[in-house]
Amino acid sequence: MTKRETIVAVATAPGRSGIAVIRLSGADLTAYTQRLVGRPLPARRAVLSDIYDAHGEIIDQGIVVFFPGPNSYTGEDVLELQGHGGAMVMQLLVKRCLELGARLAEPGEFTKRAYLNDKLDLAQAESVADLIDATTAHAARAALRSLQGAFSERVTELSVALKELRTLVEASLDFPDEEIDLLQQADARSRLIGLRDRLAAVLLASRRGSLLREGLHVVLAGQPNVGKSSLLNRLAGEDLAIVTPIPGTTRDAIHLSLDINGMPVHVIDTAGLRDTQDLVEQHGVARTWASIERADAVLVVMDSAYGETAADSKIMNRLPFRLSCIRIMNKIDLSGVAPIIDRAGNRVTVWLSALTGAGVDLLREVLMDMAGWKGGAEEGLYMARHRHLEALEQARLHFELALPLVAQLELFAEELRLAQEALASITGRHTTEELLGEIFSRFCIGK
Ligand code: GDP
Repeated sequence: MTKRETIVAVATAPGRSGIAVIRLSGADLTAYTQRLVGRPLPARRAVLSDIYDAHGEIIDQGIVVFFPGPNSYTGEDVLELQGHGGAMVMQLLVKRCLELGARLAEPGEFTKRAYLNDKLDLAQAESVADLIDATTAHAARAALRSLQGAFSERVTELSVALKELRTLVEASLDFPDEEIDLLQQADARSRLIGLRDRLAAVLLASRRGSLLREGLHVVLAGQPNVGKSSLLNRLAGEDLAIVTPIPGTTRDAIHLSLDINGMPVHVIDTAGLRDTQDLVEQHGVARTWASIERADAVLVVMDSAYGETAADSKIMNRLPFRLSCIRIMNKIDLSGVAPIIDRAGNRVTVWLSALTGAGVDLLREVLMDMAGWKGGAEEGLYMARHRHLEALEQARLHFELALPLVAQLELFAEELRLAQEALASITGRHTTEELLGEIFSRFCIGK
């Protein structure tokens, strides 16, 4: 990655649009500017200009902006060409840049360069992708907070405090005669307990933040006409329901994503689950079963006038045992039952009416409880990924292992060192090329 070729990509989504943007990044774009617009450009100013091909013919007219490094997104020279948003115009512009020596950017490569040039730390770079992929307003805000460094700051604070403790411990190792004194003075044990508790608080907030990213995956099942679509529409309410497939996820059997009090809920529809000879359909059925395997809960909708039928029991018996099951007794406006959550036995049953909306709030409550989303969405959450949670867990484990070892200074020091390494992996001080590849390959091209 030290070899910095010039990269180019269309930064806007494909298709027809008013404007589309091409981005170039490289160590020195002076020659590109000269060839593309025929003159040097001022720094960070929008300039209306013609953009030329190799024969001096005009490809497009648009706004061009030049960001000389290091004051740019990537930290290198960046040139943005804002042209007309047609596929052919964009293709010609990209082709021209390739002729001039640039190569097509890989997914996330602009952000990767920003990371490698210390414009962002790794957790911030990841939140760029999370912001783009956010499906609820809360998720978008949490990702933005991470991008602005809220999560990294808390991790860095912990890391700095840990470093102080380690410095003391290492000093005691170097001067064994004063060992006991120094450490007693420093009160290493209670410091470590303080650190452990702070880490636990960060971990808790991060778990909730990761829920905003992942959301709750629920399977929707039930016989025809019991009111599944009506219930979905009711749950979606006024909110913008995003129709899937969600870009970038492999859970393509998902039917709909809802926003329930700020928590993303992804609904996997079982409508297509039937025995079939059709190969394409079989493929779809297999995918739906695969997403059911990874789901958190199943909602089995029934008509409250009939209760659980043999067909319902059959569906429920086919579902993975570990899935939490919520039975929905719908149409209580007809059967005259009051809306209620019934937690008798091991089953949760919610009595409601998709038509009138009575009891639908009870279902929202059950779903939020299930996700550990008590008290609804909070301000101050930041986006965290599975990778971050694992690293925090790892650090906590080493704190726990260190606690009984205060008297065995070398072992104590080693556990603290491992905890520090785990924390550092979050913001990216100790990352491998492999991990970077894995993180950035999931970005969109041009970001
Ligand atoms: P699906 O086949 O399970 O998706 O069922 P639909 O949502 O299409 O509903 C089937 C019929 O039941 C429609 O005519 C709905 O208007 C009606 N329905 C759905 N929920 C209720 C309800 O809570 N009360 C009453 N009275 N009718 C309902």
